[in-house]
Amino acid sequence: MELHHVGVAVPDLAEAAERYRALGYQLIAEEILPEQGVHAAMLQSGASRIELLEPLGPETTVGRFLEKRGPGLHHLAFATPNLIEQLERLRAEGVRLIDEAPRRGFGGHWVAFAHPKSYGGVLVEFVEEPQ
Ligand code: ZN
Repeated sequence: MELHHVGVAVPDLAEAAERYRALGYQLIAEEILPEQGVHAAMLQSGASRIELLEPLGPETTVGRFLEKRGPGLHHLAFATPNLIEQLERLRAEGVRLIDEAPRRGFGGHWVAFAHPKSYGGVLVEFVEEPQ
């Protein structure tokens, strides 16, 4: 299963984006997602993508993450051709899901998160990417 992107929690999106631009990454999408409480940016270099997440406030999920753990790696996202089937497989394998059903994420993608307890402390996102 291919990695779709790596999610990084940052206090200042513009500053972080500059750092990745210096590594050859280009900004391909930027969006404010009020229901998720984040200002998100996707940067790409070749087949690699990095998603920067700046919280809209301290009471958001990413805001609490920054407060507790500081800036850094937030989640790994895997690409799946069919998210509904993927979630059924994960449920059958006993993976603990945060999202029982796909929801709209960054860039209009269908996404769902699995609990870090099921992946050794790593928050895992599944992104539907039709092949
Ligand atoms: Zn993500």
